[in-house]
Amino acid sequence: MTETVQYRGDSGTDVAKLVAEGVLDVSDFPKSGILFKDLTPLFADGDRFRAVIDAIVGHYGATGDRGFDVVVGVEARGFVIASAVAYAAGVGVVPVRKAGKLPRVAYSAAYDLEYGQAVLEVSEGAFQPGQRVLVVDDVLATGGTAEATLSLVEQAGGAVAGLTVLMELAFLHGRDRLAGRPLHALLTV
Ligand code: AMP
Repeated sequence: MTETVQYRGDSGTDVAKLVAEGVLDVSDFPKSGILFKDLTPLFADGDRFRAVIDAIVGHYGATGDRGFDVVVGVEARGFVIASAVAYAAGVGVVPVRKAGKLPRVAYSAAYDLEYGQAVLEVSEGAFQPGQRVLVVDDVLATGGTAEATLSLVEQAGGAVAGLTVLMELAFLHGRDRLAGRPLHALLTV
């Protein structure tokens, strides 16, 4: 008997399947007990990557006003997604970086990761007041990274227009932690 895999996500089954087929599971990385979701095969596949980026841009407005004015990428895999989304939508990109990387830090936020602790930072003058900001990252796990990033965006004067992740690990309940935030996950597992 063949097993039927059901894919689910906020942009429908086909997009969820597209993401799922671009992910490799790596056991015990970066620590024992963590199942790491490696999305680099998706990034390396031109057709798949383009379809995923188009799904993100389309989610916020297929034509005319895109629904956001700038895209934030979270270091480091978020940079890959953010740059492509920004280019496709014709807007700019702002990096949110790990501590010590930015020369002109305006705000910092400490947070807990699924596998450790970290600090994120954003530059001075990153956003115009009220600018609509789309935040993107590869994986939503516990939601700590996303929560810290959304808070940095708001501290820096931006308005959160959305949060898109390629993949959500539902068993870690990041969505609950972000209750009330506009979360868009292309694949939920
Ligand atoms: P969290 O703050 O727990 O939601 O963790 C999300 C951040 O950590 C994202 O930037 C992911 O790139 C990374 N991350 C956490 N858990 C995983 C995982 N199991 N596989 C791949 N990346 C992960």
